[in-house]
Amino acid sequence: MATTSSFFNQLNKRYIFPVIEEKLSQTKRKYPNQEILNLGVGDINHTLEPSIAKAICNAGNEMEQNVIGYGSSLGLDDLRKEIENVYYNDLSITKDEIFISDGINSDITNILDLFAPNSKLAIITPAYPVYLDNAIISGRITPNEDGSFDNLLFIECSEENNFSPHPPNEKVDIIYLCSPQNPCGTAIKKTALKLWVDYAIKHKAIILFDAAYEAFIRSSDVAHSIYEIERARNVAIEFRSLSKSAGFSGLRLGYTIIPHSLHLPLNSLWTTRLEIKSNGVSFPIQKAAIAALMPNSMEKQRLQIDKYLSYTKKIKTTLKNHGQIVYGGDDSIYLWWKIPEGYTDWDFFDLLLNKLYLIAIPGSGFGKGGSDFVRLSCFINEETCNTLLMRLTKFLPTLKSEEALCTTN
Ligand SMILES: *Cc1c(COP(=O)(O)O)cnc(C)c1O
Repeated sequence: MATTSSFFNQLNKRYIFPVIEEKLSQTKRKYPNQEILNLGVGDINHTLEPSIAKAICNAGNEMEQNVIGYGSSLGLDDLRKEIENVYYNDLSITKDEIFISDGINSDITNILDLFAPNSKLAIITPAYPVYLDNAIISGRITPNEDGSFDNLLFIECSEENNFSPHPPNEKVDIIYLCSPQNPCGTAIKKTALKLWVDYAIKHKAIILFDAAYEAFIRSSDVAHSIYEIERARNVAIEFRSLSKSAGFSGLRLGYTIIPHSLHLPLNSLWTTRLEIKSNGVSFPIQKAAIAALMPNSMEKQRLQIDKYLSYTKKIKTTLKNHGQIVYGGDDSIYLWWKIPEGYTDWDFFDLLLNKLYLIAIPGSGFGKGGSDFVRLSCFINEETCNTLLMRLTKFLPTLKSEEALCTTN
């Protein structure tokens, strides 16, 4: 008799996106003439750069002329070489340590296949929910009654530590880090990252470093790659994605760096895993990725990201000028807005939706420690930014009285 995996039942998820969708359509019915500003989903808001689109068409033409079938499970050689040249020449990472995938969501989850089932995990909280949910459905961690998990240590990312997670006193085996962080919008400084690398060396742990937002880093004291930290090549795997940087969220391409010099033979295990479970990534999309790594295209991507970052900065400044507490936004398009006293994150979500026609994400959707915040995602255009600034300027001075109203109710 076939039975389903019981691990899926252990997902303690209130699926927040359907709830948000429902509230959104209610608001649309109630106020049909109001433009709703969606700063909820963390997805790009610009069209594909023409040279990338062209590369996809050219690849199609090439396949019309020549037979191109299965490629390498590890990725096109030319693409791996290009990534090495553009990002890793100075960091002594070579192309056979670079693996192409259909986006890093696959990689940050599948990577756990390589480790012993009883490995102890550390996960930042609040965080991108995929790390925790994947560990649960793969049966690696089991929830206890009190919300803790066997085989898992939560590492808090909070106002107390300035959203810079610090290595724990106890020993763990595998550590998920993300910088710049989703949802808090903060980045880990080089000095803080070095503490993690030292910790991993001491305990023979492995760091899984999610660098999905590497292209958004503007601060000089933040590492673009974990391999800028000495000896990280012995203890860290790095994940990079073209989704947020080159607008590939709909095309799907990412890559993972697994150095030969790690203290475990993970490079060869990952090769074996890919050869068994994957036949590689679509040829036209890999060609598109090569186009996206050309200097002209990269310059255009940088300008687009600069625009997003400038909207982020304006919104942050406006919030702060009105006495709001807000984090992130320097090396990130995420703002982590502290909820004024007297509201839960869902109350505050409702307030923003009904008064500002603004969609934010309630912070509790990102796990423990998130419920005092909402996340604003500033993948927006200039018009949305200006509309939001206008609405905020009118609304924020009234927020205090709303708050008083709420607490007397
Ligand atoms: C968007 C995002 C990803 C997913 O990247 P894909 O390459 O599109 O799968 C991974 N990690 C974080 C933190 C993200 O925000």
